[in-house]
Amino acid sequence: MMRGLMRKIEEVAAEQRATRITAVDVWLGALSHMSDGHFREHFVQASADGIAEGATISTELSDDITHPNAEDVLLRGIEVET
Ligand SMILES: [Zn+2]
Repeated sequence: MMRGLMRKIEEVAAEQRATRITAVDVWLGALSHMSDGHFREHFVQASADGIAEGATISTELSDDITHPNAEDVLLRGIEVET
């Protein structure tokens, strides 16, 4: 899950010719088993020594278990430095 998300973040960063990712905004599905705090732990681990290390994280935790992406974590946007 984090690997897919990190790949997506790196793709978007590459498209924008980013040298650093300063902020990441994600949507946490109700059935993704992610809370804000748990996502942060995973993100810190997954981004260590990479372009997104130290990025500001914003999350929205969904409570809609019938949402088509309820099991997923979706990337809503990133902010970068170029
Ligand atoms: Zn976990």
